[in-house]
Amino acid sequence: MPELPDITVYIEALEARILGETLERLRLASPFLLRTIDPPIAAANGRKVRALRRLGKRIAIGLEDDLWLVLHLMIAGRLHWRERGAKLTRKNTPAAFDFSNGTLVLTEAGSQKRASLHVVSGEENLRALDPGGVEVLSAGLAEFAAALTSANHTLKRALTDPRTFSGIGNAYSDEILHRAQLSPVTLTQKLKPEEIERLYDATKATLTGWVERLRAEAKGGFPEKVTAFREGMSVHGRYGEPCPACSAKVQRIRYAANETNYCARCQTGGRLLADRALSRLLREDWPRTLEELEALPRRAMPG
Ligand SMILES: [Zn+2]
Repeated sequence: MPELPDITVYIEALEARILGETLERLRLASPFLLRTIDPPIAAANGRKVRALRRLGKRIAIGLEDDLWLVLHLMIAGRLHWRERGAKLTRKNTPAAFDFSNGTLVLTEAGSQKRASLHVVSGEENLRALDPGGVEVLSAGLAEFAAALTSANHTLKRALTDPRTFSGIGNAYSDEILHRAQLSPVTLTQKLKPEEIERLYDATKATLTGWVERLRAEAKGGFPEKVTAFREGMSVHGRYGEPCPACSAKVQRIRYAANETNYCARCQTGGRLLADRALSRLLREDWPRTLEELEALPRRAMPG
């Protein structure tokens, strides 16, 4: 699932191409993509792009008159910049956005169609689509710590819950925990203050580092190779391979359809976490699928 670094680089590529341009036509090939009825999608046609924003793992395209198109790519959705008028196929190209200078195409591989598009009017309706997690790159340590310990969850769950932290998912949470040298199953309310600070620093450094790296890789082009498994990741997707910090084999905990990767030597004091007990712990602490985690209702805001 594209996470904060991927979404940030998508948005930068979009800003360079469609900011100030007119959306001539929004084409839908799959009726399942659109999750709203009013305003109708035709309302978007002929409007200029005024802003682009990231809302958690969503991309919001702001049009004239405060109309917003909000895309959630989920696991398999990807964006592509093509020549104007690029063809759509219902099977794996659910939508295209025709601009005067090119066409933004949404693809979604696989049989499970989870990507979504919301068309909403006004700031308030836009904000209702934001799961409300803390923006780690602009948050201070106190705000980070308060969000982290607001409930007693495993670190893996707390980092990836979009209502707790904005834009972090399965891939970058593995990288953050490795950098922080913390176990994915440590409970958040058991963390010592120095561990919270280490996690805070690791979260910022990991996300910032990957944004810079992906930006450099894109070289001003449109990011076409968005994947959760990146060359250069320390542990995510690297089960059985050597940890870049200590050379021990990267371990995994599997639970339902998910897997978390960690280095025992760097993160768990050398202990191999027994797969079955931990799977249960993570399974009980996590919804069954990443999609379910993304779909959890926004928490009521205090005040
Ligand atoms: Zn290691």
